[in-house]
Amino acid sequence: MKNIYVLAEHRKGTLRDTTWEALAAARTLAPQFGAEITCILLSNDASTISDRLVQEFSKVIAIEDPSLETFNSDACIKCLVSILGDKSDYLLLMGNSNSVIELAPGLSITLDAALATDCFGFDVVDGALCALRQIYSYKVNALVSFKGAAKMVATLRSGSFPFTPTAQAGGSVEKMESPLKSEKLRKVFVSYEEAEKGDVDISTAEIIVSVGRGIGDEPDMDVYQSLADTVGGVLACSRPIVDKNLLPKYHQVGTSGIEVKPKIYLALGISGAFQHVGGIKGSPLIIAVNKDARAPIFRVAQYGVVADINDMVPALEEKIKEIKG
Ligand SMILES: Cc1cc2nc3c(=O)[nH]c(=O)nc-3n(C[C@H](O)[C@H](O)[C@H](O)COP(=O)(O)OP(=O)(O)OC[C@H]3O[C@@H](n4cnc5c(N)ncnc54)[C@H](O)[C@@H]3O)c2cc1C
Repeated sequence: MKNIYVLAEHRKGTLRDTTWEALAAARTLAPQFGAEITCILLSNDASTISDRLVQEFSKVIAIEDPSLETFNSDACIKCLVSILGDKSDYLLLMGNSNSVIELAPGLSITLDAALATDCFGFDVVDGALCALRQIYSYKVNALVSFKGAAKMVATLRSGSFPFTPTAQAGGSVEKMESPLKSEKLRKVFVSYEEAEKGDVDISTAEIIVSVGRGIGDEPDMDVYQSLADTVGGVLACSRPIVDKNLLPKYHQVGTSGIEVKPKIYLALGISGAFQHVGGIKGSPLIIAVNKDARAPIFRVAQYGVVADINDMVPALEEKIKEIKG
């Protein structure tokens, strides 16, 4: 693999974290293959976004076109094919966002490239790149090979590749002619439908106190909110808590809720169903409290406490307050 390309993802003129996480993955892989990292920016106005990109990438290839203001997989595939169509020996990295999920399969077919989606790690086996991804609804980790393909595309699970900015690349932008000028696009962007916005954003929180059905049928939610406030975190939950209307949907962690990547995830009375655990894979430190020593959450937790949360939570809060003085 000679080149690693990173697709810059942006929305409403702002780069998305998926771009930086893809760069973090590229930075770990590039030295192992002696590969060069290049960013690809498809936008209606490259200048504003590329200012930030060149701080981290030594090379940015940009295509500007009015139809690239909002995401359009049809337009993106045409642009990416115009950049990569005659190339080989590369890996293209992109975040596993809703937009990219729509883009990646069609793109890989058009490029005749091997595709691995929702990857959370990479390994090199006998000199060949392999990707780690989950199968059977998050139950099994699989190391998959690209079967010797010279063109590879991988989408990356959010939170799996932590990024550290350097702001030292001092890169340059190479503008390429848009292939879209005379093209008719089959897809048209209509509008953004914003999801309900809550008072907290658990997707960006650094500390999360998360509660599950173990808090009982008529819990005093103030107890858990107070613990979250004391540790400087936000309150989140498993799906049954939302189903019982104890917290709004935007607090729900999991595959049908929100994927989170806090530095600390404290799971209280959560069993660890795969739909829940699928949403916390990006967290480097999971601490679980459960009265059942065989609860599956203990398989993914770095620290586990077998205890009744009714005893544990007040004691924990008191101790934290004591330490904080
Ligand atoms: C299509 C689909 C999508 C789904 N998406 C999601 C999702 O996004 N997020 C999600 O969370 N779930 C999701 N679910 C539901 C998921 O399958 C589980 O049912 C759910 O995660 C269980 O939540 P829980 O751990 O809070 O409850 P339970 O599984 O009932 O676990 C409660 C735990 O609390 C412990 N406990 C009880 N009392 C105490 C106590 N006093 N002290 C300490 N521990 C105690 C018990 O030992 C138990 O382990 C989905 C399901 C489906 C079918």
